[in-house]
Amino acid sequence: MTQPAPVTVAYGDGIGPEIMTVTLDILDKAGAKLAIETIEIGEKVYKHGIASGIEDSAWESLSRTKCFLKAPITTPQGGGFKSLNVTVRKSMALFANIRPCVSYHPFVRTTQPTMDMVIVRENEEDLYAGIEHRQTDNVMQCLKLISETGSERIIRYAFEYARAHGRKKVTCISKDNIMKMTDGLFHSVFDRVGAEYPELEKNHMIVDIGAAKIAAAPHIFDVVVTENLYGDIISDIAAEVSGSVGLCGSSNIGQHGAMFEAIHGSAPDIAGQGIANPSGLLHAAVLMLHHVGQGDIADKIHNAWLKTIEDGIHTGDVFNPQISKRRANTAEFAAAVIERLGQTPSHFKTAGGADTKQHTIRMPVISLPKPAVKTLHGVDVFLHWRDERAVEALAAQIKSLSTSLKLSSIDSRGLLVWPESVAKSEKGDHWRCRFLAANDGDTVTHAQIVQLLHDISESGLDFIKIENLYYFDGKRGFTVAQGQ
Ligand code: NAD
Repeated sequence: MTQPAPVTVAYGDGIGPEIMTVTLDILDKAGAKLAIETIEIGEKVYKHGIASGIEDSAWESLSRTKCFLKAPITTPQGGGFKSLNVTVRKSMALFANIRPCVSYHPFVRTTQPTMDMVIVRENEEDLYAGIEHRQTDNVMQCLKLISETGSERIIRYAFEYARAHGRKKVTCISKDNIMKMTDGLFHSVFDRVGAEYPELEKNHMIVDIGAAKIAAAPHIFDVVVTENLYGDIISDIAAEVSGSVGLCGSSNIGQHGAMFEAIHGSAPDIAGQGIANPSGLLHAAVLMLHHVGQGDIADKIHNAWLKTIEDGIHTGDVFNPQISKRRANTAEFAAAVIERLGQTPSHFKTAGGADTKQHTIRMPVISLPKPAVKTLHGVDVFLHWRDERAVEALAAQIKSLSTSLKLSSIDSRGLLVWPESVAKSEKGDHWRCRFLAANDGDTVTHAQIVQLLHDISESGLDFIKIENLYYFDGKRGFTVAQGQ
C-alpha cells in the first residue's frame, strides 16, 4: 500500500482558499495518499510584521515534508516586504522552475492551437542574485553570475526531464553572441551535456529570435532550457500565447524539496465570489503527485480534467459561448472533474498513455569543475571621474603614476575611448582602466595591484571597483572592450 506522502499546504490569499479547497477535494476523491500539514503564509503573516511573509513554524513543516503545494498570495503594497517566493526558492534551493505550456484548442481560445512545450528555467543565479551597486552619479551595476555547476544542474535536469517524459527535443536559449563568457558557458555546457543524450534532438537559439518564435510558432518547441531572466520572460510569453494563463501550473524543484503552484496571482478582483478557475492549482497538484510517486493518480485527475474541458464545462475566465456548454463556478467545475474521474478524453491525448508515460527523473549530482592553472595578468580598475577635459587628461594623469603596470586601454561602459576611440564625444563619469604587465604576456602580482591602487588613490582619483584579469589553463578569462 502507498504510504501517504507528506505535503505542506498553504491556502494563500484572495482566491487561494477557494481554489485550494476544491483542489484538495479532487485529490482526495481521486485517491491521492497525502499527509497534509497546513501552514499560514502571505498577507496575514506580513500584517503581523513578519517581513518574509512566512512564520518559523512554517519552515519546520517545510523542512519536514520537503514538498509544498502553495496557493497564490497577495503581495502587500509598500516597501519592507520580501518576496515570499524568492525566500522559499532560496531556502529550499529550488534550482529549477518547470512550466508546461499547453493549448487546449478548440475548447480554449488560442492563436496557437498545437502548442505543447515545457520551459525549464534556471532559478538561482544570473541577474537575479540581486548583487547591485551604485558606482557613480550616473551608473548603476547589476552583476550577472553564471556558474558551470548551476548551468550543468539545470541543463542536465532538462535532459532528464525530456527523457522521463518521452519528449523529443531540447532547445537551449541564450544570448551568447553578445555575452560570450556567461551565456557562452551556458551554451557550451548544453553542448557537452547534450552529447550524453543521443536520442534527443538538440538546438540552440538566441533569446531574441527564440522569444519571437515562442510567440509566433510555439509548436516548433518541445523542452526549452534557459537562464533565469530569459526564462522569466519567455515563460510568460508562452503561457500567454497558449491562451491558458489561468490554467497553467508550475513546479520548482530543488535538491532539498519542491514547491508547486499555479502561475497566476491571488486575483483579488474576483476573490470571495466562488467563480475562480481552480485549473492552474490543480495542474500544479498533478505535477506534485508525479513528484511524490503517485503518477497513476496524477494521470487519473489530468484525464478527468481534460474530459471536463472537452465536455464544455468551463469557468467564466475561459467561457466562450461558441464552444462552451456550461458556465461553471469553482465548486461546479470541481464537481464535474470529480464526476469524470476514471474517464479519459476523446479529443486530447490521454495522460499516462503509452506515449505520455512518465518515468522518474534522476536528480543531477554535480561537482565543481577541476581546478585550472590560474595566472594573473593584469587588472581592470573602474574609476569615478568627472571632468570637462577629454579622457586624454585622465590617461595622462594615470601615466604619470609610478606604477610598474602599463595602462593598456580605457573604456566607458565597454566602449573603447583610449588610446583609440570609437566614441569620440563620450562624456561620462564611469571609466574602466585596464592595466597589464609592462612586458606583454608577463604575469603580475597582488602586491603590484595593491601598489597601483595606492598610487591611484594618492593621485586623487576615485577607484570604485577592480576586476583581476586571469588566464585559466592559458585561456583568457576576460573580454576585450568593444572596438578593441
Ligand atoms: P492575477 O493573476 O492575480 O490576476 C490577473 C487577472 O487574471 C485578474 O483579472 C484575475 O481575476 C484573473 N485571474 C487570475 N487567476 C484566475 C483564476 N484562477 N480564475 C479566474 N481568473 C483569474 O494578477 P495580479 O492582479 O497582477 O496580482 C494580484 C495579486 O497576486 C498581487 O498581490 C500579486 O502580487 C499577487 N501574485 C502572486 C503570485 C504568487 O503568489 N505566486 C503570482 C502573481 C501575482
